[in-house]
Amino acid sequence: MTSFRDLPSIDALLRAGHDLVARYGHARTVEALRQTVEEARQALAAGASPPDQDALLAQAEARLAQDAQPSLRPVINATGVIIHTNLGRAPLSAAALAAMQAVAAGYSTLEYDLEAGARGQRDTHIERLLRAVTGAPAGMVVNNNAAGVLLALSALAAGRQAIISRGQLIEIGGAFRIPDVMRQSGAQMVEVGTTNRTRLDDYANAITPETALIVRAHPSNFRVVGFTESVPLDALTALAHARGLPVLDDLGSGALLDTGAFGLAHEPTVQESLSAGADLVLFSGDKLLGGPQAGVLVGRVDLIERLRRHPLARAIRPDKLALAALAATLEHYRRGEALEQVPVWRMISLSPDAIRARAERWAAAVPGEIVRAESTVGGGSLPGETLPTWAFAPRVAQPNTAADRLRHADPPVIARVADDRLLLDPRTVLPEQDDALIVALHALTASEG
Ligand SMILES: *Cc1c(COP(=O)(O)O)cnc(C)c1O
Repeated sequence: MTSFRDLPSIDALLRAGHDLVARYGHARTVEALRQTVEEARQALAAGASPPDQDALLAQAEARLAQDAQPSLRPVINATGVIIHTNLGRAPLSAAALAAMQAVAAGYSTLEYDLEAGARGQRDTHIERLLRAVTGAPAGMVVNNNAAGVLLALSALAAGRQAIISRGQLIEIGGAFRIPDVMRQSGAQMVEVGTTNRTRLDDYANAITPETALIVRAHPSNFRVVGFTESVPLDALTALAHARGLPVLDDLGSGALLDTGAFGLAHEPTVQESLSAGADLVLFSGDKLLGGPQAGVLVGRVDLIERLRRHPLARAIRPDKLALAALAATLEHYRRGEALEQVPVWRMISLSPDAIRARAERWAAAVPGEIVRAESTVGGGSLPGETLPTWAFAPRVAQPNTAADRLRHADPPVIARVADDRLLLDPRTVLPEQDDALIVALHALTASEG
């Protein structure tokens, strides 16, 4: 019969585990030891044999290490979903990371004009680049696109009417719903048309002296098929301009390059919206642009100026890290090197052969097979569209259990289970993560026996 007295005292463990105290501090170590001993006590009561001192220290150390992990930390995205909102959307380019590091480590010209030796504007860093890559006469940046939509509606339509098609009363997820944002902005929403069909006349008949603008929201994350009709943007802007109204185009993803070149449906580009006459085009920084979280607004000089002067603009302004990363990302587009340098576009444009070669490297390290699968763009863009890929399916007894184990690797690996198989898509695994992934796969397949 073992007794609780067979367990070492906290004091004895503390003496033996003085290196833990040095690493994690006295209070945290004592707490971890207490919890570990308490667990051992319960195990004893349930008939387990008493653990020795080293085993208890190892358990306490594991507990401390686990607790010291930041809860926001890097993972390996093997899901094949390129812009995975839950996994932080777009990974940044090397240049964007370097730019963030450079302004984060010290002071910067964030709001300082070197020529004048006086206060400058944080917007100026980005506006020049936005003009260069989109062709818009003016541009500004806010915290995210949802904030951009709220700002634009508040500044341009509060207390007046904003017309929108019933087919565009969208929800993006994370509780961003166009009707709610309208209400919040103080604009009165005037719905026109039906869910599936809206015609130019519907808009024309809804215009009153109270109308402030016409809104178009890109239904980015769903598709309506069948008996449908919507008004092309150029026809909508022609109507609006004839009546002296601006058109606000919420593009969502805001591609600057043509997704159609990669076997995907064509996602409307920012340049197309501008040349179709949209007065203000809004899009996210971290969707197809492939940059940091941000909301980008480009368009008419006078409208951007009104937005800048609105009190909300100050509340949703971007921080210097986002501005630095966004500028570096836009620079890739200006230099015509986005396909090679912006990770999102590199992943979209990867050839099946290059993906297969990566999967083969994994397959050489652990047992499993290479199977055809499909990657998706994600980020609420191009619903239903897929890119053919080669995935690695490690040989495991229980795909869901194995997926769970991979999530507990360090760094965690996020895979997916399809057709009762565990699938890892090389498309979204950064090349520099290959070795860590193989280590995790080794541990997984070794434990499978
Ligand atoms: C994603 C999206 C938004 C919200 O953008 P965030 O940058 O996530 O705030 C707004 N409108 C549309 C059409 C979107 O697709």
